[in-house]
Amino acid sequence: MSCLKKACPGYVARAEEARALARRIACDIIAPKSLELDIACQKDPRYVDWDLWRALNREKISVCMIPKPLGGLGWGFLDIFCAMEEFVAADVSITAFFMFNLFGPVCAFVEFTPEICLSLIRDLVMAQREERPLFFAWALTEPSCGSDNLNEEALATQKPSVRVTRAPGGYRVSGVKHFISNGSLAERILLILPVDPEHPKETFSCFFVRSDTPGFSVGRVEHKMGHRAKQTAELVLDNVFIPDSDVWERPGRGWRHTMEVLAVSTAAVGMLGLGLARGALERCIAFCRENRAGGRLLIEENWVQIAIADMHRRITVLRSRLYDFAVAADTFLVTRVLNKPLVKAALALAPERAVFSDALLALAGNPSLSKAVSGLKHREVPDEIVAWFKSQGACAKVSGTDLAMDISSRVLDIVGLSGAAHGRGMEKIFRDSKPSQIYEGTNQVNLLSIFQHEILAGTHGRG
Ligand SMILES: Cc1cc2nc3c(=O)[nH]c(=O)nc-3n(C[C@H](O)[C@H](O)[C@H](O)COP(=O)(O)OP(=O)(O)OC[C@H]3O[C@@H](n4cnc5c(N)ncnc54)[C@H](O)[C@@H]3O)c2cc1C
Repeated sequence: MSCLKKACPGYVARAEEARALARRIACDIIAPKSLELDIACQKDPRYVDWDLWRALNREKISVCMIPKPLGGLGWGFLDIFCAMEEFVAADVSITAFFMFNLFGPVCAFVEFTPEICLSLIRDLVMAQREERPLFFAWALTEPSCGSDNLNEEALATQKPSVRVTRAPGGYRVSGVKHFISNGSLAERILLILPVDPEHPKETFSCFFVRSDTPGFSVGRVEHKMGHRAKQTAELVLDNVFIPDSDVWERPGRGWRHTMEVLAVSTAAVGMLGLGLARGALERCIAFCRENRAGGRLLIEENWVQIAIADMHRRITVLRSRLYDFAVAADTFLVTRVLNKPLVKAALALAPERAVFSDALLALAGNPSLSKAVSGLKHREVPDEIVAWFKSQGACAKVSGTDLAMDISSRVLDIVGLSGAAHGRGMEKIFRDSKPSQIYEGTNQVNLLSIFQHEILAGTHGRG
């Protein structure tokens, strides 16, 4: 960080501010609720602590990616990663409850059409100010397709169960999506699926659906081993009509869209893994400072010191790798466009009233303007860069979540049964770590993607 600080002092200062803010929120708002919510949501998986939601909303976390002049925090990927580590070390499921909402802005920024971006920014900012929940869900998984949605080769041969048919002015969709984070709370859903089940890869698309659309309903909300404070739900689509205007990415470009989203979301899950590992280690150290075995404090035992130092080493090494990823993402992916001096100056100078006006939104809907702006972004972020980031994101995801599983298990070996009590938080982190290895594609399938991209395609070692 220190070299980067010299070269880009403003960029690093913003990340340090994000981390300091997140540390305060983690300590004052998240940590005190962690264990009590785990129990409440075990009893009732639909339970939501709305006081907690309001407290987080006041801190503007829901609009953290929105540029500052428009009412957000203006965070890029490095800021998000720094903040996420702090949040997750306090509680991963509360973090996922509000941070997974970033699928909305990330999908919009990947598309980068002025109309989609402006209306999403306006809606998010207004909802935040009016203390009105506005959840987004990203619905990819269905009963017959899980990890195969995240791997190019598997996608080509998958057998999707959701059916899409062309209708006058749009599409009709029927079927079930499941395990969707915040699906039971979401007012806006990004539905990722192929329009032709015989040619899934070639016809993958991204549709935008509102939860009040006729035919849309929420099915089962899952009872889970971990991540309990974030609901995971089944979405039922019964002949839901989606107009052409709500096709965010047309058939054929959907895989490219999904790859760009996954490139950052898988790496972010790697960061969740790092936060889980750190949270487990911190709780273990606190326990070892207070508890004795054979008359000596555990922390005074040589074998404990070695184990703790080893876990600390692994966390530190991975943290710097994840920071590298985030800095590269800010340099080459969409936040690079948002941070262009011209875009920044325009946002800073334009009065908020004008940016959020219906007149500008109507202008933004102009198809030629949409095509030009979106085309510019896609030239700035070419397909081969996205493919490289997807592979790096998969490396980060597997490394972070395997580390979480490993460290959360190792600390339980050290602290024994009294340390494994619910009140100590370590068994909860163990339960929270396992799902992180599974979602965003199982780690095995992410490893297959790494093999296909780095080894088979021969990009290994090119950096
Ligand atoms: C807490 C939680 C939150 C989630 N949130 C969301 C969400 O918001 N949106 C969403 O869309 N999904 C979500 N999911 C679903 C998640 O992304 C899937 O569970 C994940 O992708 C794995 O899919 P699956 O469960 O169908 O398992 P499968 O993919 O069916 O895997 C089963 C086994 O088969 C192996 N396997 C699968 N495909 C291949 C292959 N091609 N080659 C070799 N082996 C293979 C896997 O490695 C695994 O061992 C969530 C899941 C959880 C647990």
